[in-house]
Amino acid sequence: MSAAIEITQLQKNYGRHTALRGIDLHVAPGTVFGLIGPNGAGKTTALRTLVDIIRPTSGTTRVLGEDPHTGGPALRRRIGYVPGELRLEGHVSGHRLLAFYAEVSGPVAPGAIHDLADRLGVDLARPVRTLSKGNKQKLGLIQAFMHRPELLILDEPTSGLDPLVQREFLAMLREARNAGQTVLLSSHVLSEIQQIADEVAVLSDGRIVAEGDVASLRLGSVRRVNAKISTTDGAAAHARFSGFAGVELQEEAGGLRITGTVDGAIDPFVKALAPFEVSELTVEEPDLEESVLKLYGAGGGDA
Ligand code: ATP
Repeated sequence: MSAAIEITQLQKNYGRHTALRGIDLHVAPGTVFGLIGPNGAGKTTALRTLVDIIRPTSGTTRVLGEDPHTGGPALRRRIGYVPGELRLEGHVSGHRLLAFYAEVSGPVAPGAIHDLADRLGVDLARPVRTLSKGNKQKLGLIQAFMHRPELLILDEPTSGLDPLVQREFLAMLREARNAGQTVLLSSHVLSEIQQIADEVAVLSDGRIVAEGDVASLRLGSVRRVNAKISTTDGAAAHARFSGFAGVELQEEAGGLRITGTVDGAIDPFVKALAPFEVSELTVEEPDLEESVLKLYGAGGGDA
């Protein structure tokens, strides 16, 4: 099946500043794809090129098989987009605003707007300028979802939403995926990506520094370990663990305490412990946050 989104060697310069340094991305239809990265990494820039708000300096993007620049309104109707910074300042009510969007984005099933507003908990009768940031964000989500587009492009969609609404939003994403829709979302909320994304790409300083399913990203990450072994031969223990740069050994009553972090596969660490009597052992599941921080290394975005 052809890709829902295909990005090839995408580069974007803002004047002399390079925001994207040749990224490749392939989003399979019917999947949820998460794009994560620190501030200034280029996430918003990448998503904006897909909806033709900005044009690439070089490289190509294909969205639902079309060039976003030439796809025009017909292509836009097949996409639901939530911009990173949603500015809603008008005197009109949420109802009026969404009715206007519905004319632009194409047929919206009767009751769909009302149902979404109900789920997310937003009052559509109020003038949009009087809504809180989170409630404005809900209107942004409603306009993206209401016409059941083939593709949802969501830039930090949960910013400003409280945890209960975030949970409802995740349910909406699952339903979208079950209905065969494709989702590309950027997020700082790593637990959210962990819960929902089939595939993840990590963007740092305009480059994709890691890509894969959430499970494979975890594999290459750091685990926190804490063990106690009983041994009288401290030298032998130190020799055995000398290969683990992140691990420290300290003498404790009845043996040695081993604490620190283990990089990558855990198996060598477990094998190193094996000859000793182990009285305590905890290995903490790494989360995506730790993986991502490690992957960023010294490089960041604006930093
Ligand atoms: P955040 O998570 O903070 O929203 P991001 O990953 O979405 O960050 P972008 O907004 O895409 O990052 O920005 C990437 C880089 O391009 C940043 O260094 C930013 O300062 C720069 N940049 C973005 N838009 C412009 C612009 N219109 N003119 C000049 N530089 C820009």
